[in-house]
Amino acid sequence: MVRETRLTPENFVYPLFVCPGEGVRKEVRSMPGVFNLSVDEVVREARETFALGVPSVILFGLPEKKDEVATGAWAENGVVQQAARAIKREVPELQIMGDVCLCEYMSHGHCGIVKARHPTQSLGAAAAAPPAAAAEYEIENDSSLELLAKTAVSQARAGVDIIAPSDMMDGRVGAIRRALDGAGLINTPILSYAAKFASGFYGPFREAADSAPAFGDRRSYQMDGANAREAMREIELDIEEGADMIMVKPALPYLDVIRAAWERFDLPLAAYQVSGEYAMIEAAAHNHWIDRERVMMESLTSIRRAGASLILTYYAKEASKKL
Ligand SMILES: [Zn+2]
Repeated sequence: MVRETRLTPENFVYPLFVCPGEGVRKEVRSMPGVFNLSVDEVVREARETFALGVPSVILFGLPEKKDEVATGAWAENGVVQQAARAIKREVPELQIMGDVCLCEYMSHGHCGIVKARHPTQSLGAAAAAPPAAAAEYEIENDSSLELLAKTAVSQARAGVDIIAPSDMMDGRVGAIRRALDGAGLINTPILSYAAKFASGFYGPFREAADSAPAFGDRRSYQMDGANAREAMREIELDIEEGADMIMVKPALPYLDVIRAAWERFDLPLAAYQVSGEYAMIEAAAHNHWIDRERVMMESLTSIRRAGASLILTYYAKEASKKL
């Protein structure tokens, strides 16, 4: 009766990793219980998720082929586009979020277009033979925006209800908003990964989405984990550009940032309980060092208590069964 914080299945968003093929259900080694799923299996998961009271899934794609312009991200028959169409056909009430980024679709695994600083070095060479030092390449922010906007429009046309850009390029929310509006998709909202920190907690995801950078790291475009005030500025910029919902990622190591965002902004606030948070609980529980269910619920409650009303979590289905 006096409990201050309540979890319900409606708080959850379930991440799904779509891969090519049929009848594919391949477990991610570092994330027990999480799978790469072909479109038919994604539809099955979507149906189960919705039946448990979870209102939304977020789709990530593992394309057939990767290249240097992320074709798989914006192609009409991309895996995410196929999955969105199939889910809309079978489970029309489920809200589909589409992760918009390029790293899963790029041969080099970066979230934007990569340019070698030395003109003699071609992009192909950069991907094939990684430059030794980060100083030898840079991310082309503005040309990356075009591909991100194209991806968002393509996903929305395929049935994605909420566009969720995770790339952290500057100006991407505005670019995506203009592209959606230009395509007549004026009612498609944007959930911005507004404060996404460069984090060691993403490790297992990169196996799940096969998106580890082939060289360098993402610190030039993701945020410094030491900066909470900068996070507020990043969120503010995304709101000015037209974000309808905002996200903090990861969740557990950044509960103070979630709290600060909740106090300062009045948009719906999401937090992503990322792969490393999940893998730590799974690994410790596997060794009988912690009570798995108890820690699962406690960690989700803490994220909710900090102020997130939406939690993207690999525990969405399981926690919903307990509630
Ligand atoms: Zn990315």
